[in-house]
Amino acid sequence: MLNGKNNLIIFTGPSGVGKGTIVKQVFADLKNIEFSISCTTRAIRPGEVDGVNYFFKTRAQFEKMIQADALLEWAEFVGNYYGTPKDFVFNTLEAGNDVFLEIEVQGALQVMEKFPEAVSIFLVPPSLEELESRLRTRATETEDILQKRLAKAREEMKFLDRFKYIVTNDDLDKAVESVKALIMVARNVPQKI
Ligand code: ADP
Ligand code: 5GP
Repeated sequence: MLNGKNNLIIFTGPSGVGKGTIVKQVFADLKNIEFSISCTTRAIRPGEVDGVNYFFKTRAQFEKMIQADALLEWAEFVGNYYGTPKDFVFNTLEAGNDVFLEIEVQGALQVMEKFPEAVSIFLVPPSLEELESRLRTRATETEDILQKRLAKAREEMKFLDRFKYIVTNDDLDKAVESVKALIMVARNVPQKI
C-alpha cells in the first residue's frame, strides 16, 4: 500500500493539546497531502460542518460501518465512537498522495500495527496543567466531559514511547514547523529500495 512515493501520517495526542490548531496550519502550507475526515457519533460543535470537520453519525449508523468493515480503525473516546473510513485512506494512498490521520491514541495504535512504516507523531502538552487550561479556554466541553478528557489524557500519555516522533506543543509556530519537517523528511526517505 505504501509504495515509497507516499506516506501515512498518524497524528495523535490528548484532547486539547492543539492537534486541530496545528493541522490547520500544516494544511495551509503543504501540498499533496489529504486529510482523512473521520466519522463520529459526538454532537456537532458550533462552527463545525458535517462532511468537513467530521461525518456526523448516529450510533446505529456507526455500528453498521463497523459491521461492514468500512473503518480502518475505530475507538470509543469519552462516550462516543470515532473512526477512519477505510476507502478514502486506501484510494488516496493508491493515487500516490500522503494521507494525514488526526486520531486518538487507541486508534493510532491500531493503524500503527497495520502500517508499521507509518509516520507516527505524538503531540504532547508542556504540562497537564497547561492542557487543562487549553481545554478550559476552548470552552467546548461540559465540566464532566472535560474531567473525563483529562483523565483520558493521563492514560494516553503512557503510550508515548510507542510513537516514532514526539513533538511538544509549547510554542505553536515551532510545533507546526516540527510537524511539517517530519512530513517533508518522510517524503525524502525511500520506504522500499
Ligand atoms: P485538540 O485538537 O488537540 O483537541 P485544539 O487544537 O482544539 O486541540 O486546541 C485546544 C486549545 O488550545 C485551543 O483553544 C487552541 O487555540 C489552544 N492552543 C493550541 N496550541 C496552543 C499553544 N501552542 N499555546 C497555547 N494555546 C494553544
Ligand atoms: P473531538 O471530540 O475533540 O473532536 O475528538 C476527540 C478525540 O478523538 C481527539 O483526540 C481526536 O483526535 C480523536 N479522533 C478524531 N477522529 C478520530 C478517528 O477517526 N479515530 C479515532 N480513533 N480517534 C479520532
